[in-house]
Amino acid sequence: MPTPSSAPALAASWFDGRSTRARAVAVSLHPNRGGPRLQLRALDNGQTLDLAYDQVGWPERWSAGRVPPRLTVDLGEHGSLQIEDPLAWQAMLAGSGRRTPLAERMQTQLKVLLAVLLVASVGIWAFYRWGTPWAATQIARHVPLAWEHALTERAMKEIDENYVKPSKLAPERQAELRTGFAQLAALVGPELQPYPGYAPPLKLEFRSGMPANAFALPGGTIVMTDAMVEKARSSGTGETALLGVLAHEIGHVEHRHTTRMVVEQGVLNVGLGLALGDVSSIISFGSSLLTGLSYRRSHETEADCYAVAMMQKAGLPTKPMTDLLLSIENDVQAKEAGNKTAASAPSPSQRPRPRESGAFDWFSTHPDTAARAKNLCPHPP
Ligand SMILES: [Zn+2]
Repeated sequence: MPTPSSAPALAASWFDGRSTRARAVAVSLHPNRGGPRLQLRALDNGQTLDLAYDQVGWPERWSAGRVPPRLTVDLGEHGSLQIEDPLAWQAMLAGSGRRTPLAERMQTQLKVLLAVLLVASVGIWAFYRWGTPWAATQIARHVPLAWEHALTERAMKEIDENYVKPSKLAPERQAELRTGFAQLAALVGPELQPYPGYAPPLKLEFRSGMPANAFALPGGTIVMTDAMVEKARSSGTGETALLGVLAHEIGHVEHRHTTRMVVEQGVLNVGLGLALGDVSSIISFGSSLLTGLSYRRSHETEADCYAVAMMQKAGLPTKPMTDLLLSIENDVQAKEAGNKTAASAPSPSQRPRPRESGAFDWFSTHPDTAARAKNLCPHPP
């Protein structure tokens, strides 16, 4: 039963659900934890009703300047109230300490709406920026090696048809490099496995028809171009430089960077469909992503640190590798300076850019190399 109260009361009509006749009542609102209580007293027979905040269907607020002619308050099993003086109701409600729900404030206050939109946008942006890479890293743990191999097989077919030609390196030279590569691959142990238990077979392929480059595809296939091998020879940085580059690529494989990027796209494009949907469509868009491959900056740092750790384990220096990469960058800069004025030449830290009729060189697939090469892996994990 309601406690006697000095709260102001408001005249209203009560349809109690038992008769169609409106009963004259006095309504009052009383501050309470969790929202005001509504009390009413019938003027005909003194009957009272005391309802908790949650038992009342509170009418929506209205925008200033659009006061409705009357309000209906839903009392659930007790029927409804009709309020003929909405402004008096609103004043009584304001005096009862009711907090306006966010959805209502958004309807009536532009500032609140804008603030909510801003928070939502930041949330979505943060999801894209951190949420999807994080989710991709987790999901990548569950991507079967067979999927990675299917993806890579398809991507290699596309790359072979559109971007590269068979290698012209002498078979003996290829064999030499594969031997060095196999020695590096044999060093992969638990401390060089960021994904515990993930041990894809590592395979080295050579191709020509592209500028100096090397890249790693999901599931262990690494491609190095003839131009990269030739550049190591002409720059005098030699075999150790190429092994450093291969260690960096093995880093991309072991960190599953391309798989993570494909999964990120999967998270964004097909959401849960990745887990439940058609594998072939994922492989299809995945392979088209790989042919425009560009690692992220954070991936480059991980691969650099991996290369540093692997070369240390092999007892080899990383300086020849950075010298090789910087010498490639110098060639690119010199070439661009020849084409343009120095002032308009893009800086080496700019985002990937295709060169030479769509062919991708090291700097388009491995962004920021020139900046990183001067201080490889500044903060070892
Ligand atoms: Zn890289």
